[in-house]
Amino acid sequence: MEKSRRNFVKLAGGAIGSAAVLGSASTASAQESVADVYRSADPSNYTDANRTSSDVRWIVIHTIEGSYEDGYTWFENPDANVSSHFVIGNEPGQIMQMVDIEDIAWTNGGDGSYNDTGVNFELEGYANSTDFNDNIYEQTAEAVAHICEKYGVPKRHPTFDLAPCDPYDGEGGVIGHNQIPNADCTGVTDGKVDPGDTFDWNYLMDLVDGEVDDGDGGDDGDDGGNGGTAGWPTYSSGDENRDVYTVQYLLEANGYPMEYHDGIYGNEVETTVESFQSDTGLTVDGVVGPNTWDELVVTASDGDENQAVRAAQDNLRYKHGYDIAVDGGFGPGTEDAVESFQSASGILVDGIVGPQTWEYLVG
Ligand SMILES: [Zn+2]
Repeated sequence: MEKSRRNFVKLAGGAIGSAAVLGSASTASAQESVADVYRSADPSNYTDANRTSSDVRWIVIHTIEGSYEDGYTWFENPDANVSSHFVIGNEPGQIMQMVDIEDIAWTNGGDGSYNDTGVNFELEGYANSTDFNDNIYEQTAEAVAHICEKYGVPKRHPTFDLAPCDPYDGEGGVIGHNQIPNADCTGVTDGKVDPGDTFDWNYLMDLVDGEVDDGDGGDDGDDGGNGGTAGWPTYSSGDENRDVYTVQYLLEANGYPMEYHDGIYGNEVETTVESFQSDTGLTVDGVVGPNTWDELVVTASDGDENQAVRAAQDNLRYKHGYDIAVDGGFGPGTEDAVESFQSASGILVDGIVGPQTWEYLVG
């Protein structure tokens, strides 16, 4: 993340440099260190406030439904009545801050409580259609990680369909506009879908966690990936790695819904593993070792569409480097990757993720 994009874009026409002069009249602007440029939203588009870390609980990701310039010029327009703390573009250096974190940006809808508790990111692009590039993921991740660390927001992406009615319930985290409840808490606010299904949350959160290099990593063969080794690993509370995503998805494949898919072996994973062990007649210890893996793995093959497929795809992509979609649908791309992985691991090549292939994936 030390690339040459820290070249401080001077969109403000020379005003930058004399210490935070871009703010509105009343207060000096508090530019976060991660912002490449500060360009204030119109003061009529946000609430001047004095929020502290305890008020900041959620980071909310949006798409502008337009370009970077469309985003920041709209928030400068006094007629907009909307704003965002950050606007992120897909060119290097486009991390713009427009509202101080202590102030309340208006963009989440609902009853306003997620504005009160949120730090908002508007990303260049369109929900459900933009193929977001590496710059925008990296720039977003850099700023998200900074806000998480500075204001104590958990670096997790809860996958619930609807965030808590009361934003002070739950642990907080990094969510999409499409998870914000409406004022009655009966559904998603204003039918919002952003950032949409072309946005790769796993990739963003890996970058936020610092698990992924921002370069292209070196796994650039035809299918890109590498093989695995035999032997079931043991995971327990406090572990945090890619195989824990596999555990989370496989628990779902076995009929145990999970709120979090974040690679963290926390309370939810432990108690769900205990239920699973109890239900399958295993020793109940909340630890995933060889016996639990044996029961947990679900065979996945061509045409399947379920969380076992997602578990395999996630592991193939993020642990073993295969450039495939993680969408829960077992199609030709997944089958090719499985065969390539089996070949690289020196096991039977049949394109089916059965017990032995699972053992090599997580081994
Ligand atoms: Zn939005």
